Amino acid sequence: MAHAVIREGKINFFAASDLTCYVLRGSGGDLLIDTGMPQTWKPMRQWLQNYNIRWVFLTHAHADHDWNAAKMQQNGAKILLSVLDKDLRRNFLRQRVMPTSKHYALRNVMQCVSGGIFKSPPYEADIYFGNEDSGLLRTLGFDAEIIPLPGHTYGSCGILSRGVLYCGDAFTMIFGRPEIPPHAVSPQLMQNSLRVIESLHPDWLACGHGLPVRYDRAAQAIADALTIKYEYN
Ligand SMILES: [Zn+2]
Repeated sequence: MAHAVIREGKINFFAASDLTCYVLRGSGGDLLIDTGMPQTWKPMRQWLQNYNIRWVFLTHAHADHDWNAAKMQQNGAKILLSVLDKDLRRNFLRQRVMPTSKHYALRNVMQCVSGGIFKSPPYEADIYFGNEDSGLLRTLGFDAEIIPLPGHTYGSCGILSRGVLYCGDAFTMIFGRPEIPPHAVSPQLMQNSLRVIESLHPDWLACGHGLPVRYDRAAQAIADALTIKYEYN
């Protein structure tokens, strides 16, 4: 697969409160990847004035990614979400996550408690796409392909565009270093998706938390994670 070389400035991102959203520019309008939380709405909306957002791609249906989907929709954007996360909207426990490492056990309990309490404002996606719809974004005017990356949730998806893999929570920089996500509905599916990321070998990983990272900086963390033997799936 050929990848254009991307300079740092070409990744359009908005990062606040450990959440990072991205914009892809398209031939007929732009696409926002993930939507942040209540506290990021105002500054994000200001940032979005630089763009003509017609589409919103949700990497998965966790509240810290889809919270502002309803607002974006009210402002005229169309929402795209994997059909496999349709029932996860406002229902975190529908796909109960497990810690991907022992030291995330307590964090995982807290996630399940807060996930049961905090529910995003209701929205219905305009398009629920399936794993066979990898070319959907091309039909909407984007030089981009949808990459299913299940594991963190069943419907988790990334976007590969011009050497950048926008990967949601399939990989993370949340602690300021390249790392696997602390939680996964299926650690084994997560590992499969890490293999997919390895085979794609993008120039950049643009994660849902933390700043974009060069793939070469993340490769070791991915290789290490693939050596873990999970007793559960
Ligand atoms: Zn998540």
